[in-house]
Amino acid sequence: MDKKELEKYRKSLEKEYERILKNLSDLENNGLLNAERNSDLGGITTHPADLGTDNFERDLNLGLVTEENASLREVEEALARINKGSYGKCEKCGVKIEVKRLTVVPQARHCFGCQAKMES
Ligand SMILES: [Zn+2]
Repeated sequence: MDKKELEKYRKSLEKEYERILKNLSDLENNGLLNAERNSDLGGITTHPADLGTDNFERDLNLGLVTEENASLREVEEALARINKGSYGKCEKCGVKIEVKRLTVVPQARHCFGCQAKMES
């Protein structure tokens, strides 16, 4: 892969990195706002049904945070592969990952074929 191509992927990875960081801080802010709202209620007057909703929201947020953290790591590793010069190679079979795939998923570590096999 030539330098120009690599720079293109590095840029989209960096953009993705910032998008995820922003999402994570949004999620964090939402969590804090929820916590403040709950403490205003004093806890005692909270109806059990409301508690259920809050737990659900918190779990949902936690799930999203976990997911975004995993994506963040994927992007970080892809950037590290660019630096090491191993970017764009399938980690399973070693072929060049399709450009079409990298354009959509710049942090991809497997070619179409291997990914399909892993998902099935
Ligand atoms: Zn492969």
